Amino acid sequence: MYKKALRDYHVHSLHSIDSQSTISAICQKAIELETKEIGFADHVDFDPNDSGYNFFDYNAYTQAINNARSIYDNKLIIRKGIEVDYQYCFEKKLKKWAQDKEFDFIIGSVHYINHEHIYQLPKKRSIETVIQNYVNEVLYSIRSRLFDIIGHFALDYILYLGEKKRDESNFISQTHNVFQEMVANNMYLEINTKYLRSVYKETLPSSWLIKFHAENGGQLISVGSDAHLVEEVGLGIRNVLDYLVSFNPIIY
Ligand SMILES: [Zn+2]
Ligand SMILES: [Zn+2]
Repeated sequence: MYKKALRDYHVHSLHSIDSQSTISAICQKAIELETKEIGFADHVDFDPNDSGYNFFDYNAYTQAINNARSIYDNKLIIRKGIEVDYQYCFEKKLKKWAQDKEFDFIIGSVHYINHEHIYQLPKKRSIETVIQNYVNEVLYSIRSRLFDIIGHFALDYILYLGEKKRDESNFISQTHNVFQEMVANNMYLEINTKYLRSVYKETLPSSWLIKFHAENGGQLISVGSDAHLVEEVGLGIRNVLDYLVSFNPIIY
């Protein structure tokens, strides 16, 4: 039977503050799973309040990736990426930092808005305000032109966290705006499988939004497990690839 090549473009190694996994152990696991490509996406944080602030060491990371490439060459394609915590207030700093560095891809992820974690916001403000703020921040991240991939678009997960009965259709116009700008800027939408491993049991964004994106011309897709542990590498990706088949996407 034809088996789609497995790929995972969002894994964290010990070059992220919140992972202990070596690049080597992750590569070995990926090979064991018959993965075609592995994309490291270690955290880069610009917010001094974040525990990961100043943690990422570009030279050490580059050396570790090059080393892994020399060991696993012709068994696995290894991509050197990063996941940047995007906040509009740090955009200038980020641009300056990225200037003299080379990556195969950069994921832009909105985790905080003005230093407040997005998953805490539904407890503090109306869901309409939170969604509008989140959508604006994601739009800023797209317009920054710094990123190849928009990481874990979480509109429907934020709704799920809110008190209100979950009804994504109320927010379809905001979602449409985000997706249209992504398409116009040739950006990849990440399908992140991390919350398949939680009680939420859905991808970010969830399957209906992936379908909505595809129906509106969104063809560029990236898939990632957001693994922080070696055992999490590749989890959920095969199901996502199967789901994506009918949309005929271009996968990063
Ligand atoms: Zn993230
Ligand atoms: Zn991540």
